[in-house]
Amino acid sequence: MYSTRVPIRALSNPIRQFSTTTRLQALSGLKINSDRLWQTLHETCNWGSAHRYGENPIDTGMARLTLTDDDAHVRRWLAAEIQKLGCTLSVDQMGNMFARRTGSKKSAAPMIAMGSHLDTQPRGGRFDGILGVMAALEVLRTMNENGFQTNYDIGVVNWTNEEGARFPKSMCSSGVWAGAIPIQKAWDLRDIHDPNVTLRSELERHGYLGDIPCSSDARTGFPLGAHFELHIEQGPILPENNRSIGIVQGAQGYRWLTFTIHGKDAHTGTTPLSARQDPVLAASRMIAASNDIAKRHGALASTGIIKVPSNASTNTVASKVTFTLDIRHPQDRVVHAVQEECLQSFAQIASQNGKGVAVDWTLDTDSPAVEFDPGCVASIQVVANELVGPDKSMLMTSGAGHDSVYTSKHCPTAMIFVPCHDGISHHPTEYCSADDCALGTQALLEAVVHYDQVQWESAAAGSE
Ligand SMILES: [Zn+2]
Repeated sequence: MYSTRVPIRALSNPIRQFSTTTRLQALSGLKINSDRLWQTLHETCNWGSAHRYGENPIDTGMARLTLTDDDAHVRRWLAAEIQKLGCTLSVDQMGNMFARRTGSKKSAAPMIAMGSHLDTQPRGGRFDGILGVMAALEVLRTMNENGFQTNYDIGVVNWTNEEGARFPKSMCSSGVWAGAIPIQKAWDLRDIHDPNVTLRSELERHGYLGDIPCSSDARTGFPLGAHFELHIEQGPILPENNRSIGIVQGAQGYRWLTFTIHGKDAHTGTTPLSARQDPVLAASRMIAASNDIAKRHGALASTGIIKVPSNASTNTVASKVTFTLDIRHPQDRVVHAVQEECLQSFAQIASQNGKGVAVDWTLDTDSPAVEFDPGCVASIQVVANELVGPDKSMLMTSGAGHDSVYTSKHCPTAMIFVPCHDGISHHPTEYCSADDCALGTQALLEAVVHYDQVQWESAAAGSE
């Protein structure tokens, strides 16, 4: 537990590139209120709680899909809290909520943001995204009650439809903000269960179709000076390494491919193995080979969908199979190398067994690896060092997509990960302990304060 140790002292190991005339303090002296954080998080989970799995009041998951009535409730609650704190609230045309708290220098520069999302999967948990927004709110509450001001304006962002569970496009509104997804396309997304309902019609119904263009453009939209996101890890790496803070340097690259293997239908009783063109056999060998290749490269390769024609039968060799392949690694060159080796190996497999099969493939998605901003990462690293020491923190790469992946294209960005129980996420039993929630929130506060100070000092040094 970090709570006994919140010293104010000079940076013990100053980072060279930021050395300025004034020595930076690594920690703020502020301390977040972990009970208030925990209570607030769970109280707001009453909007959308579902899938009870235990006796305790908080032993439920969440089904707070974006722009449902429950999501609208928690949004209105957040808006009220933001106003109570004296912050200004802006809502853009994708319903992204931006709370802004004025800094001491009254700078017109874009605010340093702490963002994540309040929407969940239909069988989601209480921490994915929610923790990031509640932590950001707790940071503002802590600063308010201590009369603390950052130099630059800081604030909170609630990104709309991160999960893409109801309107199928994940990281949807940070994607629009970043210019990667056209707004009309996002507005036109249809509720997966009700084609009469669109994302735009739900924004209108709840009064969340704001008047600010959803854009990072400084002239028209809501630009950000930086974006820090606290998130549960959603994987097993932190607990396996006995670490409590992950300093996220980027997100891994991935490519999604679809393979179609063409064979020939044949009677399974009368066609010798040597005379077959069996696409199911070939596809299964290819999938197994992709796993071996990925292993050799320390990468990931996964097949999530296999399809045979709906008229396939037990006693017929299938005519065709399609399967997907999802390749991931923090470095793009490794993703490419795995793809190349898979293509070579698949070509070989296609010619083996009987008369062989033909292979077609398409590249459906190419998402290059993302590197977060070294300055933001450095701030997290400095404060993590102070809070838990190097033995309890580690540098890592995000395996999943987050809003931060899109914000990183337009403002300095980095993420903080905290462990979740058994790495379970997108599941009702997803759990992050109160201590880990508090530690992550303290780290978020400290990272933002540190970054703000570094930015201010280097701007001041530059203008001398
Ligand atoms: Zn999330």
